[in-house]
Amino acid sequence: MPSEVHPYPFTGRQLPCLVGGEFVRQGRTFENINPVNGAAVCTVTEADDALVERAVQAARAALRGPWARLSMPERCALLRKVAQCIEQRFAEFVSAEIADTGKTLQQASSLDIPRGAANFRAYADFALARGSECFEMGTPDGRGALNYSVHKPVGVVAIIAPWNLPFLLMTWKVAPALACGNAVVAKPSEETPSSAALLAEVMQEAGVPPGVFNLVHGFGAGSTGEALVRHPDVNAIAFTGESATGAAIMRSAADSVKALSFELGGKNAAVVFADADFETAVSGTMRSVFSNCGQVCLCSERVYVERPIFERFVEALSARARALKIGGPYEGADLGPLISRAHREKVLSYYRLAREEHGEIVCGGGVPAFGDERDRGAFIEPTIVRGLAEGSRCVKEEIFGPVCHVAPFDSEEQAVQLANDTRYGLAAAVWTSNLQRAHRVARQLEVGIAWVNDWYLRDLRTPFGGVKLSGIGREGGAHSLGFFSEPMNICVKL
Ligand code: NAD
Repeated sequence: MPSEVHPYPFTGRQLPCLVGGEFVRQGRTFENINPVNGAAVCTVTEADDALVERAVQAARAALRGPWARLSMPERCALLRKVAQCIEQRFAEFVSAEIADTGKTLQQASSLDIPRGAANFRAYADFALARGSECFEMGTPDGRGALNYSVHKPVGVVAIIAPWNLPFLLMTWKVAPALACGNAVVAKPSEETPSSAALLAEVMQEAGVPPGVFNLVHGFGAGSTGEALVRHPDVNAIAFTGESATGAAIMRSAADSVKALSFELGGKNAAVVFADADFETAVSGTMRSVFSNCGQVCLCSERVYVERPIFERFVEALSARARALKIGGPYEGADLGPLISRAHREKVLSYYRLAREEHGEIVCGGGVPAFGDERDRGAFIEPTIVRGLAEGSRCVKEEIFGPVCHVAPFDSEEQAVQLANDTRYGLAAAVWTSNLQRAHRVARQLEVGIAWVNDWYLRDLRTPFGGVKLSGIGREGGAHSLGFFSEPMNICVKL
């Protein structure tokens, strides 16, 4: 183990929930499994209905406590303190994220954890920079009136996060929710509880008042997640995860008419024109297909390539995919494992389906053999498929693994039509050196985010989210602040 690697911070401990400023270990537990070798990482306290109830009431009480009296600059100063505390325990966060996900040291330390800290600083900046509306109006008596708006917290916010970028996506919601003065009950994925457990410690260290940030661990349907999203005293839900889960949460939240922000699944297209810089397009597509073992909602699972360069492109892409090094987080590998054996089974079922649907597996398609403990992990081969019909399930359904289907196109119109022929609408990547085409095509894509000649280049002020099955609402900058606050108009007769 290289010297800078921190040992897993919770070895031999049961991960607690955090409720009203108190760490709670009680009742039922579940195991957190390392997908590198199938070993148990730790046990986790599963919050039952009663603990969820306590967490929600602690959050509600916090809204009436000292937290409510902090000014916006004071809240933002606290967020900066949280960022600083994360950075002080950076190596622990990296090791916690890696133990849960098996992702590479390179990714955890250059993306997941730094972005977690950056989210708190960014939303402190955005909240401080936010102004409000003011409208002067005339009145019959000639004295006039002044309308101005103030941003109030929404109240108790439930935050439900997925396992693919656990810390990045959890903090992406917690930071703006707190910046806007809300109290939070957060639930990380049952697959990835550790970085959230560290965040709970950091909240205490930074001096966030009790009850402002509560953490409950557990599963979704029939467990902690469902109890939380059903709870009548939760005012809003910010959720990232699968589209089907979003639909289930919507049903649970319907009775109490909660505000919803949903970042859901994708079946994203990459569109490569023959005039693109070939090398840039190949390496960009490698990143967009295989990053985080294909487990990023923005990953391209459909790659459309203009026919004159199609064969050459597929050859280059598959040569690069075959050369990817698969391995554990500390081995300098390009590709770690999938999140779990269960998820691997799902992805493998699509590899099998691709064959049944008469696709040709250009590379990969199976499971690597290591001859050591990694054979008990959730590793899988990066896979490229060609020759599937556009209507086949592998081209239509989100797989969420290191796999793409490559298909040729003959015209710009056809490329746009193919890219848009999906029930999802999260992201797309367009590769071209023709400036006019870049703008023309990008705008026609039915997605929330289109990248031209890059992928996953993020400015945190920009709107982030999807259309169709990929979500409701936008996150990022003013968009997140908008969701996490209630604008109120005050009309003053002059
Ligand atoms: P998931 O939907 O299975 O689980 C996400 C979270 O929801 C977990 O914490 C889970 O416990 C909880 N949950 C499940 N059922 C619930 C219910 N009925 N009520 C309340 N909570 C419930 O998603 P996942 O497998 O963790 O993550 C992968 C999915 O997330 C993919 O579909 C991916 O595309 C999507 N995703 C989207 C974005 C985005 O920004 N659009 C980002 C990352 C991941």
